[in-house]
Amino acid sequence: MLGNLLKKADPLEYPDMSDITQKQTAAIEKIAKELGILTVSDTEKHKILAAVNMVGWREAVRLVLVDGLAPEEIALEFEGKVPERTIGHESVKVSISNYLRLIDALKKVSRSSKAKIASVLGTTTCEVQASQVMRAASEEGLVFDPYYVEKHEVAKRAFIEQLTTELYKAKANFQLKLEEIGELGRYDIVIVLAGINGKHEKRLVVEVKAGLSLDLTQIERYLMVGERLLLIRIMTRQAKLFTPEEYSDLLASASQNVAAKAERILNNQALLIPGPECYRCPVRTCPHNKTKEDQKRGLIRQEQKNFEADAGAFMRNLYPTISTAVQIALADLEVNTTNGHQ
Ligand code: SF4
Repeated sequence: MLGNLLKKADPLEYPDMSDITQKQTAAIEKIAKELGILTVSDTEKHKILAAVNMVGWREAVRLVLVDGLAPEEIALEFEGKVPERTIGHESVKVSISNYLRLIDALKKVSRSSKAKIASVLGTTTCEVQASQVMRAASEEGLVFDPYYVEKHEVAKRAFIEQLTTELYKAKANFQLKLEEIGELGRYDIVIVLAGINGKHEKRLVVEVKAGLSLDLTQIERYLMVGERLLLIRIMTRQAKLFTPEEYSDLLASASQNVAAKAERILNNQALLIPGPECYRCPVRTCPHNKTKEDQKRGLIRQEQKNFEADAGAFMRNLYPTISTAVQIALADLEVNTTNGHQ
């Protein structure tokens, strides 16, 4: 990966190396060594300099000389192109712990779980509505056609079956947990791989989406509590791994935004923000409320034409998507199905 960054680097960006310090020269040589370059030509030095320039010297020196990180981690850092990562990293932790502290505080004054509070805060724009939803007891929700639940269960089972077969073949020492209650949500599937040869155990959370709905703030919440997440979207044949390290800047910003919202709600200064949320809002006294009285009744189901298309797409996409997702999970867990658990 560092090699990829170097490919993008322009050696002409640093034609003059006269102002490079001894420490920086040592850093260039260390990077070259990590890349397996034994004789470092001037062109290569210039290219490394240009690559280093993408992240900043301080960061490069910290990574290469001070921390002595493994090459992959150096590469990851360089790919991230985040200058001043040390400061960023600390601030991410501070922002997230402040966010979690405020969720805790809201739990004490509401009737909801931390997972629900975090979800409501993440998905509701109007703070007055968010405050009401988390403080009130859960209202009876809409009744959904069991077809939606069945699709979700089938997709989860297909993933578990294919994954466990691969893990079994690889003689991996693993454990699966279903519907585990996490700090900020309930996880569809958690894969725990026991450590081997002194390695720590590995853990991967899997979220299966059998329909088209998607809550990106749910991904944020899982990452905020340090989980690695594999998202599977059957209907679009997509699967993606999300890790907290990869999105640390996003997590810092998101936790700060939500924390500010939580603080206003705690201080009874929730903002009133009218919009589409007014069409389904429990704050009956609000002059903007447009909720229809009979909205909460009735079965939610698809029209015949949509059902035909949906069921057909689900059947076609299920196994190709699951195969991709299983490969991503095995790679993340570093399970080699030909030679056994690494
Ligand atoms: S009706 Fe609209 S503005 Fe009023 S509390 Fe509900 S969402 Fe907010």
